[in-house]
Amino acid sequence: MGKSSKDKRDLYYRKAKEEGYRARSAYKLLQLNEEFHFLDNEDNLKKVVDLCAAPGSWSQVLSRKMFTESKEVDNKNKKLIAVDLQPMSPIDNVITLQADITHPKTLARILEIFGNEKADFVCSDGAPDVTGLHDLDEYVQQQLIMSALQLTTCILKQNGTFVAKIFRGRDIDMLYSQLGYLFDRVVCAKPRSSRGTSLEAFIVCLGYNPPSNWEPKLDINKSIEEFFNGCKMSQLSLSDDNDNKLPQWKDGQREIAKFMSCGGLQSFDSDATYHYDDEILSNLKDKLSLDPVQSPTNPPYKKALELKRSGKLTRAV
Ligand code: SAM
Repeated sequence: MGKSSKDKRDLYYRKAKEEGYRARSAYKLLQLNEEFHFLDNEDNLKKVVDLCAAPGSWSQVLSRKMFTESKEVDNKNKKLIAVDLQPMSPIDNVITLQADITHPKTLARILEIFGNEKADFVCSDGAPDVTGLHDLDEYVQQQLIMSALQLTTCILKQNGTFVAKIFRGRDIDMLYSQLGYLFDRVVCAKPRSSRGTSLEAFIVCLGYNPPSNWEPKLDINKSIEEFFNGCKMSQLSLSDDNDNKLPQWKDGQREIAKFMSCGGLQSFDSDATYHYDDEILSNLKDKLSLDPVQSPTNPPYKKALELKRSGKLTRAV
């Protein structure tokens, strides 16, 4: 990708560099917050978990909201944890865990750091590596969301908030129906900074309110379905007794979540790019290219650079 390629002239990519964010995704969380204000009440931001957090732009937003912009004198009681499979460069006030969100040990580690207190806010911007096999990719993405939800049900306090990335695939209304059993309000939101051409959207789940007789418990030997046993949402299932043998939901199970676009018309269009003209080029030559906010922790080209520096890099014959 050249320095003036379309992706690099993306307005949010540029804005992220100017404002010190590691990724343009920061604006997705900020624009969701403009609509729902879940990060605006400090009393509800004492214990926060950012799942699938690398390279860390959501954690940067959270850290600024919880600590840098805090009006409270004493921030000692606040804890912000960022979890990802990938290593992350440190961020002020963020406890980073290199871990798999699908593993029960990760939950145990988070609870230990929180001193067994519950979280006020959990978010997940998770995306698995894409294989290119559409059905498989959709399935793995669904599993990742369900894993994030499982973990969330074990750590979120009553009335807490959960925000997660989803892809609006064929069966997404099943997820909305399931979430309706756990939260008072579920909205599907698309921030302006999320590309219009992408199926990506975010579920904003407000007011965690699980069935009172249900106690979620993560167990590596249990399937997701078994996990949600005892909670009404396990009653939702596919029925295949129809003529064309395609799975369909049983009657009355489909739920369409309210859809909301957020970010306001004054914010940039995610599919727009800025362009250089000759005048800008001559005035701004040395300012045009901005360095990355954070270098990658362990880039695949690191070894090649080391070999080159020591004069040992040779071309394959
Ligand atoms: N919100 C991040 C930000 O603002 O910088 C970007 C997140 S990126 C789109 C998706 C992340 O999900 C990747 O870093 C990937 O490593 C992580 N991920 C995927 N599966 C995971 C898993 N099972 N456990 C932890 N992290 C996972």
